[in-house]
Amino acid sequence: MKRNLLVLIMILLILSACNNPDPPAPTDLPTTFPSDTPQPTATPEPTPAPEEFTQYRFEMTLDYNRHTAQVVQTIDYINKTNFSLPSILLVIPPRAFGNSYDQTGLAGENITGFSEEGIRTTLQLAQPLEPGQRLTINLSFNLAIPQREGSFGWSQRQLNLSNWYPYIPPLKPDQSWISHDPFIDQANIMVGEYVVNEIADFYLTLHLVENLPNLLVASGAKAMPIPDGMSYSQERARSLSFSLSNQYHHQQVEHNGLLIQAYVFQYQSEKAPAVLQIASQAMDLYAEIFGPYHYDQVSIVSADFLHNMELDGIVLISSSVVDFYDNTPENNLTILVPHELAHQWFYSQVGNDHALEPWLDETLATYSEYLFYEHYYPELADWWWDNRVYAHAHTGFVNNSIYDAGSYENYRSSVYLNGAIFMHDLRITMGDQAFMSALKDYVALNNLKITTKTDFVSIFQAANPNVNLQEVYARYFKE
Ligand SMILES: [Zn+2]
Repeated sequence: MKRNLLVLIMILLILSACNNPDPPAPTDLPTTFPSDTPQPTATPEPTPAPEEFTQYRFEMTLDYNRHTAQVVQTIDYINKTNFSLPSILLVIPPRAFGNSYDQTGLAGENITGFSEEGIRTTLQLAQPLEPGQRLTINLSFNLAIPQREGSFGWSQRQLNLSNWYPYIPPLKPDQSWISHDPFIDQANIMVGEYVVNEIADFYLTLHLVENLPNLLVASGAKAMPIPDGMSYSQERARSLSFSLSNQYHHQQVEHNGLLIQAYVFQYQSEKAPAVLQIASQAMDLYAEIFGPYHYDQVSIVSADFLHNMELDGIVLISSSVVDFYDNTPENNLTILVPHELAHQWFYSQVGNDHALEPWLDETLATYSEYLFYEHYYPELADWWWDNRVYAHAHTGFVNNSIYDAGSYENYRSSVYLNGAIFMHDLRITMGDQAFMSALKDYVALNNLKITTKTDFVSIFQAANPNVNLQEVYARYFKE
């Protein structure tokens, strides 16, 4: 291990030595140019420094059998807005689950105190944080992970950790924080997602209390083994999530420079090749249609619950969906793996307010399923519409918030299913070529940002200025 690390450091040194950041001296420039070569400008543009992001660092000691963790967390926050911040908001999602979160420390230079309400902690500052300034927050807390089906919880065969740590939400131009509360419908189903993250860099050192035989950790982050666990890094991401089980069967494939990993339960091992195959196809197609994927790995995990969940670099697919895969493409696995992977573009790369404008990721991810079938199984395109959309309720405002729809059923009917019908209508109205180029522009222009309906509307309109798309929106959207 150490020798590999040394070799790696030497390679990095050699690479950085080759990478001379200084602009060439004027004497290095040729003095004559062929007539058709553009002349260089007198003063070369300075190379912009790479963009810096807020950093989250974690030292976690996890006890898989007891479902507990001790965490030391440092947030090195950068005020990337153009206004000064008199206070800082921390959102702590695990506080939505009873006594799951027990904070043992919160301090930092410039922090004079804090107040807590629900899932929010407001930090009072001695001095406002000016644009470009940094604030370091040191936290320590214990997690008692709840026994529940979901992407934060444990079952007899899995422990999932997403939205498990305090984070600082994004700010809107009106200087308010984008911070929402979860919404549970009458059937006790949590509707959609309410956590909105800006892009940050994540580093986690994970110590496992006991070295359980067969315990595997699935994550979207790059992993390096350490003596008692793993260390992870995931830069330019919205969150850091992982899933552990001592019953995983792991299989992976290197596909066009991308490491695709499948973690299914051991009794599902024969389904793993199909998971990898569908994921390879989806990642190929979406890179072609939407633009490059921004990490070099992605993990697909069989989840011990009944829904599916997109996270950064990792997606959770209900184990029942994996169970029922029958080696034909007329199957939920072939529908839902592409759906969740499309969220790597519409959630991870291009962010949005998942609570107030969930259509910006769910409508696009659902329509991406159709793009998948249209490309790989055109003979099943009609089957996809009938089975996925028309067989269910498919009405309601596409731009419903997670609160407006009132129930998970209505949320799916409007945002996902009527959303897919809207996207297809938009495509037919503006023409195939303009629609496809708008999709690509939308991702490129909003990469690493948080978009709104205004961004979507203006980019799609610009792709074909000759048709009035307002009529399409009027058919599906409320003001
Ligand atoms: Zn989705």
